[in-house]
Amino acid sequence: MAACNAHYYATRDPIGASGDFTTAPEIHQMFGEMVGACLADCRHRAGAPDAIYAELGPGRATLAADALRVIGPTDVHLVEASPALRETQRVRLPDATFHDRIEQLPPRPLLLIANEFFDALPVRQWVGDEQRLVVVDGDSLAFTAHGLIVEDSPARDAAVIALAAHLGRHGGVALIIDYGDAASAPGDTLQAVRDHLFADVLADPGEQDLTAHVDFEALSTVARSAGAATTPLATQGDWLRRLGIRQRADALIRRHPDRADDIGSALARLTGPGEMGELFKVIAIHHPDWPTPAGFE
Ligand code: SAH
Repeated sequence: MAACNAHYYATRDPIGASGDFTTAPEIHQMFGEMVGACLADCRHRAGAPDAIYAELGPGRATLAADALRVIGPTDVHLVEASPALRETQRVRLPDATFHDRIEQLPPRPLLLIANEFFDALPVRQWVGDEQRLVVVDGDSLAFTAHGLIVEDSPARDAAVIALAAHLGRHGGVALIIDYGDAASAPGDTLQAVRDHLFADVLADPGEQDLTAHVDFEALSTVARSAGAATTPLATQGDWLRRLGIRQRADALIRRHPDRADDIGSALARLTGPGEMGELFKVIAIHHPDWPTPAGFE
C-alpha cells in the first residue's frame, strides 16, 4: 500500500473531476474557510501570534489558500511526499516551505490541518495472529489468509506520535479530518478508487488511489499516550455547522444571488448525512494548555 501510493501520488494530480477522486476543499471554499476560522480562533485564544500554518498532504493547496485568507499572513510549512503535487502547491503558495516528514517542521507552535491524509497511509491486516499478505498468483496478485480481518497501522501511529511530540514541545493544535469510524471494530476497509468509482484493490498497483478507513479510537488513544490532549470526535457535518458554515453560505448567497444553487448544493455535499456529513469525522489533537478548538461541543 505504501509503495503503490508513493508511485500513484508521485506521478499525477489525482484530485478533482478530471482525476480519480474529489475532496472537501475542492467542493467549495467554505470548507477551507471554516478550517481557517477554527485555527485562527485557537491561535487567538492561546495567545500564540508566532504560530505557523502547517498542513499534511495538501493536495492542490486549495484548502491552504482558503484557510490562509481567514488566518492572515503567517509562515506556511507543507509536509508533502509527491514531487508532482509539490509543483502544484508551489504555484499557489510560492513562499511555502516543504518537508518530507512531520519531524522536520520548525520548532514553533502549529496550526495544522490534515484532510484525507491519514486514510492514504498504509494499514496492515490480521486474521487472528496471521498477517494477511499480498502474493503473486499466476499473472495476478492475491491475498493470503481469509477470515475475520482486523486492521492496524504502524504508519499512522508513528505520524500521530510525531505530531503529539511536536505539539507537546512547542504548542499548537492539529485538526484531523478523514473518513472512518468512531470506535475500533473488525472489518476489511481497504479500498481502491479510480475515475470516481470503486475498483479492485489488487488491480493495477500504483495506478489507483488506495485508502483505508481511519480508526479514530486508535488515533486518539495513541495521541493521548504520547502526551497530547484530544477533543471528542465530531462528524464533519456537525463540526462545520457549529463553526457557522450555514451563516457563511447565507452571506455568500446574499453577495452572489446567481450562485445560490451551487452554494446550496456544496453545503449539502459537505454536511449532508448521506454525503460527507456523517462518514467524515473531525478530531483535534492539541497541547494540554491550549484551548479546546471550536466546533467539538
Ligand atoms: N488534503 C488534500 C489532498 C488529499 S490526497 C485535499 O483534501 O484535497 C492525499 C495527500 O497526501 C496528497 O497530497 C499526497 O501526495 C499526500 N501524501 C500521501 N502519502 C503521504 C506521505 N506518506 N507523506 C507525505 N504526503 C503524503
